[in-house]
Amino acid sequence: MKKVAVIPGDGICPEVIGATLEVLKKVAPGQFEFREVSMGGNAIDKYGEPMPAESLKICQEADATLLGAVGGPKWDNMPPDLRPERGLLGVRKGLKVFANIRPAKIFAPLASACPLRKDIADKGIDFIIVRELTGGIYFGKHEAFTTPDGEKAARDVMEYTDHEIRRIAHVAFKMAMNRRKIVTSIDKANILTVSRLWREVVEDVAKEYPEVSLNHLYVDNASMQLIRVPHEFDVIVTENTFGDILSDEASQIVGSIGMIPSASLGDNNRGLYEPIHGSAPDIAGQDKANPIGTILCGAMMLRWSFGMNDEADRIERAVDEVLKAGLRTGDIFTEGTTLIGGSRMKDEIIARL
Ligand code: NAD
Repeated sequence: MKKVAVIPGDGICPEVIGATLEVLKKVAPGQFEFREVSMGGNAIDKYGEPMPAESLKICQEADATLLGAVGGPKWDNMPPDLRPERGLLGVRKGLKVFANIRPAKIFAPLASACPLRKDIADKGIDFIIVRELTGGIYFGKHEAFTTPDGEKAARDVMEYTDHEIRRIAHVAFKMAMNRRKIVTSIDKANILTVSRLWREVVEDVAKEYPEVSLNHLYVDNASMQLIRVPHEFDVIVTENTFGDILSDEASQIVGSIGMIPSASLGDNNRGLYEPIHGSAPDIAGQDKANPIGTILCGAMMLRWSFGMNDEADRIERAVDEVLKAGLRTGDIFTEGTTLIGGSRMKDEIIARL
């Protein structure tokens, strides 16, 4: 029995997480033990804190964690330590995940949602961003100070160790081995010392994967190439801040925020799987939420934490078929397609498994 910790989250997330559990139960009956835990705004309401120790313990004991986004206007004015996002940082830290994986893949029936020129989109878009999640400037020393002249100043320190770069590079090369065998490492080595170390270590790791071709891009150039020749990318590996920015750019290239899953992985297979969207309080409780991003998180979990590739393929195929049949939630609706609610979308996917 595979143990899965389930964090339903806030806003629309209990709806889309509930849909995903139904899909998982259908595709692999009796194979999972789901343990629901409280985190985020709903945990603040119930326990007075965003990440109760008991919730974290259940996630740490599970084989994988499925997580819905947290937050919403109700908790926006809480003090920083008691905000729902604290729970998110707490669970990522507690599970020791350091690699955030975001696929950017265009589903053929949704090609019209791609904002790029048709001749570019038609070449196909299917790449993965492997973003380092626990180092760099977000986790370096942050300081606001006054200069000797009395002027206000601030600094944030960017720092990476050999070990941190090496382990994320291995994640990227291993992914590439199961794909088209191309790794693009993105840095700013013409300016940053950290980037020069990044490049040196990535090149060293590449020697262990002779079948994979490695190329390097500066981050400014990479942001252009992603919209000029997206079909040329296979696996991108980059540090925390560059990955944060480029992965949002990539999500826009492939269409709706409601369609994209992500995974955060550590040294073992115990991943944390979450859609990239937030809790969308504007549409919560109205059956308007697209469950596909979260359902695809379920497929990722099957593939990467449990090695259940056939079941993952079945889910991804069912999603593709529903889209081919012209069924759309509001966020991906275009003229000539059929508008349906989130729960019907889930039923249609289950019917095609
Ligand atoms: P959001 O992603 O929740 O919503 C942005 C827009 O996309 C909204 O119009 C929303 O209706 C739409 N949308 C999002 N997901 C959708 C889906 N599955 N189907 C259809 N439409 C969808 O971002 P936001 O509005 O900036 O944030 C709302 C709350 O979520 C905030 O409190 C924010 O802090 C939180 N948030 C949490 C996480 C997380 O926990 N990982 C991530 C991002 C935002």
